[in-house]
Amino acid sequence: MKKICVYCGSSPGKSPEYIEAARVLGRELVKRDITLVYGGASVGIMGEIADTVLSAGGEVVGIMPQALVDKEISHSGLTDLRVVGSMHERKAMMEDISDGFIALPGGMGTIEELFEVLTWSQLGYHRKPCALLNIKGYYDSITQFLNHAVEEQFVKPIHREMILIEHKPDRLLDLMAAYKPPAVDKWIGRNET
Ligand code: AMP
Repeated sequence: MKKICVYCGSSPGKSPEYIEAARVLGRELVKRDITLVYGGASVGIMGEIADTVLSAGGEVVGIMPQALVDKEISHSGLTDLRVVGSMHERKAMMEDISDGFIALPGGMGTIEELFEVLTWSQLGYHRKPCALLNIKGYYDSITQFLNHAVEEQFVKPIHREMILIEHKPDRLLDLMAAYKPPAVDKWIGRNET
């Protein structure tokens, strides 16, 4: 993996553990010579992980729609800041140039972005690892809901298992490096579980 996309909050969150997790992940990316791809903001957890990677000597690509450049305060010190025309272009470019995706704690934007790449994976549009860095159990209720969706037969177990979940950044990156995508896409064997 050369480039990893990290989705995370444009807010810092309530607990300092969220910010600390962004720092640990950022340093781990640099240690493994992996470029950070993210939304390009200088605020919240987004700004924190970018600052950490840059100050540890790593590379950061930020991708931001023109309409958000002022609102999310685009980061002025990135290796590469790409300003695009729309949110859809942003998400497509983030997916296209990255070899895997991690969601740190964040709000609706973060959750939407992770679920989009997960649904693209389930449809076989890409075969890259999608992961949750579950700090302080922040994503426990989402994982419980997905288990419920499997029980109710709206999600196949093989697609639920695509989501790599860990609370330690180094272990999560190891899981991503070893990831094997499911052999079945959503519409093959649709009557099987
Ligand atoms: P949040 O997790 O809501 O703090 O947002 C984190 C990042 O997701 C920010 O850069 C937002 O611009 C971005 N974002 C917000 N809404 C969306 C969306 N519908 N699709 C993609 N990204 C979004």
